[in-house]
Amino acid sequence: MLDVDGLRMRYGATDVLHDVTFQARQGEVLVLLGPNGAGKTTTIEILEGFRMRSDGRVEVLGTDPAHGDERWRARVGVVLQSWRDHAKWRVRQLLEYLGSYYADYSTARVERPWDADELIAAVGLTEHADKQIKMLSGGQRRRLDVAIGVVGRPELLFLDEPTAGLDPQARREFHDLVVRLAEEGATTILLTTHDLDEAEKLADRILILNGGRIIADGTAEELAHQIVGADEVRWTRDGRRFVQSTGESTRFVFDLFRQYGETVTDLEVRRASLEDTYLALVRQAEAAASPLEGAAR
Ligand code: ADP
Repeated sequence: MLDVDGLRMRYGATDVLHDVTFQARQGEVLVLLGPNGAGKTTTIEILEGFRMRSDGRVEVLGTDPAHGDERWRARVGVVLQSWRDHAKWRVRQLLEYLGSYYADYSTARVERPWDADELIAAVGLTEHADKQIKMLSGGQRRRLDVAIGVVGRPELLFLDEPTAGLDPQARREFHDLVVRLAEEGATTILLTTHDLDEAEKLADRILILNGGRIIADGTAEELAHQIVGADEVRWTRDGRRFVQSTGESTRFVFDLFRQYGETVTDLEVRRASLEDTYLALVRQAEAAASPLEGAAR
């Protein structure tokens, strides 16, 4: 669904993306993480066909986004950070109107657009279908933003910080919606966020971008394994507490029991959280990029 190879972007004399390479399969939820200025927006805008790259090969649904036609665009959904227009329109009215543009792109496999009432139910806005958009709460707005992004039943969906500003309940509901789109609709999703719990919960795979380079690509577990001594094992033996950091906690615990048997009690294994892993990987990458600064830190 996504195939990016050696992507480069240069603004004037400054390179902001260096050799970015990754792929995504159908139904996969890919989360793109990285500090401000890492190049996330630039990458996504190139994939969306909103920005021209400097170099490299990019295929989105098998097409170079720099040359994507209307038929291609109808298969791609974009949820921007905020949609502030159409204040006086009503929810159903707007979705029916926007959806009508997709009818010509219906295929035997994917019927377009998504029926407005079905879609409104899927994003949990049934009670608000006849409300004016300016009357919606922040969370309801965000769900409408998603509905707008998926009304054409995209095969690939881009979500830019979709839950920024949502309360915990709205956030939870939003996560359920993303999982449903990916699992039932087989929609491939590329999402950016600064919320690492959200990333851990939703991502089939995580990409970390730092200084325009992909510094990690894998599941949260695979990323944790890149950090030496990421897991912490604690236990008690003969009334004494022990703590050991290890990258191989399962193996370590197995050996511990083989050696000490039932005298081991109060066993606890703490996996590195995605936050621990993320911070360690970014720190590592920054130290490698500027060794003096890294040593001084
Ligand atoms: P992120 O989304 O990860 O915060 P961006 O993709 O917005 O990062 O930015 C990556 C780098 O490119 C930053 O250093 C930013 O200042 C620079 N940049 C972004 N857009 C432009 C532009 N239109 N012209 C020049 N530099 C830009």
